[in-house]
Amino acid sequence: MADTGTAQTISVIGLGAMGTALAKALLAANHRVTVWNRTASKSVALGDAGARIAQSAAEAVDASQVVVVCVLDYGASDSLLRTPNVVARLKGKTIIQLTTGTPEDARDASEWAREHGVAYLDGTIGCYPKDIGTPDGSILYAGSRSTFETLRHTLANLSGHALFVGERFGNAAILDGAVVGSFSLGATLGFLYGAAVCDAEGISLDTYLSLALARRPFVEDTLQTCVQMIKKGDYSGSQATLDSWAAGIGQLVEYSRECGTDSRYPQEVLARLQQAVAMGHGQHELAAVFECFRKPRGDRS
Ligand code: NDP
Repeated sequence: MADTGTAQTISVIGLGAMGTALAKALLAANHRVTVWNRTASKSVALGDAGARIAQSAAEAVDASQVVVVCVLDYGASDSLLRTPNVVARLKGKTIIQLTTGTPEDARDASEWAREHGVAYLDGTIGCYPKDIGTPDGSILYAGSRSTFETLRHTLANLSGHALFVGERFGNAAILDGAVVGSFSLGATLGFLYGAAVCDAEGISLDTYLSLALARRPFVEDTLQTCVQMIKKGDYSGSQATLDSWAAGIGQLVEYSRECGTDSRYPQEVLARLQQAVAMGHGQHELAAVFECFRKPRGDRS
């Protein structure tokens, strides 16, 4: 099945906020779309928009060569796909699994798919439903490169950024956890804590936002420096020691209490800095905090 960018028959199983956005994007790209959802009422609007409505998951699988699955979790996905009736219909077809799961979920599902003669791509969505079908949309895919290449044009209809991250199943889930769950969410929580401090002190959130956004080049430079230092295993530098970072954040913790915000967030940040200092990194740069988080050396699988 060559994906030349022409219309394909595609089924979408799961029509929550995300599944609905995926189905809409495929319809907008003129694919012939069949949809199914456990709660039938959610398929009505898509039916009005031109999708065919299947009466069961098995019927949705029957309708298309490519099946997109986007339900709450892998338990829900397994309950729909791993039935004799559906498995028999899946043989020789392709599943694009866009349900969020752990790397182990992805590995287990890919093994199951292989055993049943089903091509399988494991994707993780790094954007909101409103971004699906736009240049801002972002989805990572792991699995067979040839399956990814075969579907490249169709996947581009789902998100402007459709990135293949390797044949090792689990890679998409690992990177999603790191980029979205750890980095992006962590940065946002830090931003929200700062917003609480400004709010407590009557400082304009617009001023705070513009100052935070102006730090983008600084953040970029910090991240690049961190990766270089981690790769070298050498955290020595001349910019700012962990001792000085810890002293500064210690003052933020103190002040956070005074201004009436919940100071547990900066306390936790301070605890990690102090842990790195206790490990002997007081005169090293911030990147040394990596040593608190990392899997111990010699314990890598
Ligand atoms: P919703 O809560 O809006 O929808 C959940 C979907 O899962 C519904 O279609 C629901 O069916 C279905 N479902 C839940 N349990 C079962 C079950 N036991 N059997 C059959 N179907 C079931 O979630 P989203 O659409 O937002 O999320 C779907 C997936 O996309 C999740 O894995 C989520 O992590 C991921 N995702 C979502 C993002 C977002 O911004 N929304 C961003 C990135 C990833 P029913 O309608 O019948 O309840």
